[in-house]
Amino acid sequence: MRNVVIMGSGCAGLTASIYAARANLKPLVVRGREAGGQLTLTTLVENYPGFPRGVQGPELIELMQKQAAEFGAEFLEGDVTKVNLEKRPFTLEVGSERIETRALVIASGASAKMLGLENERQLLGHGVSTCATCDGYFFRGKPVIVVGGGDTAAEDALTLTRHATEVTVVHRRDQLRASKIMQDRLRRNPKVKFVWNSLVTDILDPTKHEVTAVKLRNVATGEEAIKPTAAVFVAIGHQPNTALFRGQLEMNEVGYLITHDGTKTNVPGVFAAGDVQDHIYRQAVTAAGSGCMAAIDAERFLEAEH
Ligand code: NDP
Repeated sequence: MRNVVIMGSGCAGLTASIYAARANLKPLVVRGREAGGQLTLTTLVENYPGFPRGVQGPELIELMQKQAAEFGAEFLEGDVTKVNLEKRPFTLEVGSERIETRALVIASGASAKMLGLENERQLLGHGVSTCATCDGYFFRGKPVIVVGGGDTAAEDALTLTRHATEVTVVHRRDQLRASKIMQDRLRRNPKVKFVWNSLVTDILDPTKHEVTAVKLRNVATGEEAIKPTAAVFVAIGHQPNTALFRGQLEMNEVGYLITHDGTKTNVPGVFAAGDVQDHIYRQAVTAAGSGCMAAIDAERFLEAEH
């Protein structure tokens, strides 16, 4: 029987594991399908406090994991495939292994939806990004593209106008989904241009290890075009990794877990941290902060039982 199992090994899960390990709870971290989380998909991280010259995302994750292991956190490769939160101890299945735990921290994150292009995968971290706040600065003085028509795309586009010479929003329809106020802000900004009714069908140029242009197809006319750009920000939504908890934990209509009084979910002993419960900030440092909160909440919960 475990005191605490932490699902997920991104910033939130690893910070929770450092705190839980230092509280002598001997946490087990189930690393998950996208082990290391979103930071492993990026390159230089310049806004994580304490690294004045920046740090590579994968390196930061490795350091956090090392820190947690030094305090006694244990790690299990694999993904939780089944979970029962109806009674305590909670039970989890990871492959053929069955684990019982007194408390659970869910830090399974949210996966950025991608366009699904081969070159998109190859150029991720080399001009293709899912985080304008993180990577916009690298493209200062250059033209960039944002794909999507929702609030994230609008917010990303506005963020990018601080750095880029021109921000082109490529949307598959002729109307944005973003809120009216965000649409107004976009339209008022002289740096923002729109390409309507269009899909990005390819991203160039993997042989140069950087983004040089996108191929566009107008879905109304079938017309194809090549548009030079230094970066492609994919902002077509995120999917929180919460399918396992449907019917067991409270979540909003998109699937983000609902927390109250810090990191508590509606099931006592189950806590949620990081992007799995946050669709607003989504930063490494905010995820780490809520991971810390979840570990402290779990520790207090276990303490109160004795
Ligand atoms: P949304 O689901 O709202 O928007 C996704 C956008 O991407 C849509 O315009 C959609 O097109 C487009 N899209 C989806 N899949 C594809 C694809 N395969 N190819 C091309 N385009 C695609 O996600 P968001 O992340 O923008 O927002 C999620 C939630 O978070 C919303 O409720 C939003 O309001 C909220 N939010 C609020 C913010 C704020 O208030 N400041 C900031 C960010 C998010 P289509 O419109 O045709 O479906």
